Amino acid sequence: RTKGQQQGGYTLFNPSMYSETMDQLSLEADLRRAIERHELRVYYQPIVDLKTQQTKGYEALVRWQHRQRGLLYPGAFLPIAAAIGWTISMERWVLRQACAQMYAWYGHSIGEQQPSVSVNISAQHLAQACLPHYDLIGYIEKVLQETGWPAHCLTLEITEDALINSAEEVALRLSEIQSLGVRISLDDFGTGYSSLSYLQHFPVDILKIDKSFICTIHDRLQDGEIVKTIISLANSLGVSTIAEGIETQEQLDHLQSLNCQYGQGFLFSQPLKHLGPDRRAQSIPPTSIMTSLTP
Ligand code: C2E
Ligand code: MG
Ligand code: MG
Ligand code: MG
Repeated sequence: RTKGQQQGGYTLFNPSMYSETMDQLSLEADLRRAIERHELRVYYQPIVDLKTQQTKGYEALVRWQHRQRGLLYPGAFLPIAAAIGWTISMERWVLRQACAQMYAWYGHSIGEQQPSVSVNISAQHLAQACLPHYDLIGYIEKVLQETGWPAHCLTLEITEDALINSAEEVALRLSEIQSLGVRISLDDFGTGYSSLSYLQHFPVDILKIDKSFICTIHDRLQDGEIVKTIISLANSLGVSTIAEGIETQEQLDHLQSLNCQYGQGFLFSQPLKHLGPDRRAQSIPPTSIMTSLTP
């Protein structure tokens, strides 16, 4: 039972809730100043071609380098960002930062060599983009222009909960984004109000199979079958598949046998702070990346 849960009309209270609340309030105040204090960071986790084991792109993941508390993960502060109405400004910052950093690292490599970057966009942000006064497409265009990062090397990751409300409006926005050359990826697939029919009704280029299915792909026959079905349907619709959270060689072997195209996970690499041609040139074998390049 979590603290603060309702029971018969009363809220259970204990002294630790007070300090917890104070803690939240101080984090809130700090978060408001995090951008101007340059405390937010973007880390990049490689997305690997499962056949060739080559890195095809990176997912941009936000972190907060807090002065006293150290490196904070999104789970610790995204809920606070949402509570103070700060989600959209933070995501706009991440998008710009990711494009600018990727340009600095890879802007001069040519054609095929240039990796793509995937940026997470919340359901709230996409809903906002459906309102007339907020022009998300204009913002994306501006970021691409100002940073020099090419549209075809940018992917936006959205989650299924973004597709539930005002579906037609959302589908329209997504195809506008695609018409810039930007790709759309459906994140954490299988966890939400999942429906394979989303793939027919929304313009989706890439499907990311949630890590909860990957971690039990061996132990639970059912999960193996679900993953198999998702991949074969995606393949037949011309949608690429990325398996999230690959941690073991067995999981990788299994996914390769199912013809899953791409993967991401600690087996290949943790999210990294620095990228760039110099790092790639070192060509570190996948298994040692984890230990040698801790973020
Ligand atoms: P996500 O988009 O599904 O990102 C993948 C998460 O899985 C990341 O957690 C990553 O570090 C973690 N991960 C990667 N490989 C493995 C693995 O092999 N095993 C396990 N157990 N985990 C793995 P992280 O960075 O803590 O991010 C958590 C979530 O926070 C993300 O899930 C995403 O939903 C959200 N998030 C992160 N950055 C942003 C952002 O800039 N904007 C928005 N809206 N959400 C973000
Ligand atoms: Mg994601
Ligand atoms: Mg994901
Ligand atoms: Mg996930």
